[in-house]
Amino acid sequence: MAALTVQGIRKRFGKVPALRGVDLQVADGEFCVLLGPSGCGKSTLLSIVAGLTAPDEGSILFDGRPVDHLSPRERDVAMVFQSYALYPHMTVAENMGFGLRMRRVPKSEIRRSVLDAARLLGIENLLDRKPRDLSGGQRQRVAMGRAIVRRPNLFLLDEPLSNLDARLRAGVRLELKRIHQQLRGTVVYVTHDQVEALTLGEQVVVMGEGRIHQADAPERIYSRPRSTFVARFIGSPEMNLYRGQIVHEKGKNRFEGPGFAVDIGRTQIPAGEAELGIRPEDIRMGGPEFSLTARVQLVSHLGAEKIVNAQIGNAPITFCVSKESRLQADDRVYLVMPPEGLHFFRNGLRVD
Ligand code: ATP
Repeated sequence: MAALTVQGIRKRFGKVPALRGVDLQVADGEFCVLLGPSGCGKSTLLSIVAGLTAPDEGSILFDGRPVDHLSPRERDVAMVFQSYALYPHMTVAENMGFGLRMRRVPKSEIRRSVLDAARLLGIENLLDRKPRDLSGGQRQRVAMGRAIVRRPNLFLLDEPLSNLDARLRAGVRLELKRIHQQLRGTVVYVTHDQVEALTLGEQVVVMGEGRIHQADAPERIYSRPRSTFVARFIGSPEMNLYRGQIVHEKGKNRFEGPGFAVDIGRTQIPAGEAELGIRPEDIRMGGPEFSLTARVQLVSHLGAEKIVNAQIGNAPITFCVSKESRLQADDRVYLVMPPEGLHFFRNGLRVD
């Protein structure tokens, strides 16, 4: 397996800038997830790493050596895409061994590798079947198996679970994680699903409009988003964000938002315009001693908890309450925004 370096990659399609200067480092054996909204350039980046698309500028390196001049085959990457593209006339075993047959690996060795991968994926009883006789999830595993058998430099996976229903998806996701722990292959995995990104990624790369906004451990992406773009993109329901002013007065610090003010505790952030963010799950309910009064508009049941949409000052606010809560529309509640749950941004970028 190889470490991957992406250096200053730029790519335009006609007038459309798909990638505007991307730098990224993926360690040997790391599971890296590219996450971002549709059209942000994830697939283009993957295709450039694979050697299927040529960049306008920049370089791709495996283990520190440029591979720009190498064909996809010479780069020895295994790709699994949304459409599994299994050969319909071949059995599962033949599909899985195809890459090795092309490389003229001895038959006995192919058989052993296919069986090992099939065991890992729990599909050894399907080896004689044709793809048409498999469920979506099974086809998915065969496609993964075909990639695993090759023992490539790099696995490139582009939304490989998007055709599966939610339950199957969760199952295959767990399986992928387990397989990665066993094989420790270098993986670059594209998704627009944040749950998938946070559960699978050791490094999560949040992209938007052809740029990397943050490349970090999943915990940090969630707890210390570097920009309002990342803050909004990660977390469900979305983080509450308010434009306002930080004011220091008589030894006290507060944030003045649209029609409400919050005590922000000790802070080093200079006074002036700022955006305050707080995640719905970090907001607590308190007594009347707290000046944050909200009026409930809508309560939605999510099973494990309830999500409340309310009005605070002149702005909307979303917060979570326990499933036992009896809150209902038109109730007045007192909210607490604990200082440790607050995020501050200036010009869209985190400050603190
Ligand atoms: P999705 O999640 O929808 O697959 P993505 O993040 O993978 O999106 P890309 O497919 O990389 O995005 O596309 C990035 C941008 O480049 C988009 O604006 C897209 O329309 C454009 N683009 C991609 N491929 C081509 C192409 N072959 N010709 C013209 N424009 C393209």
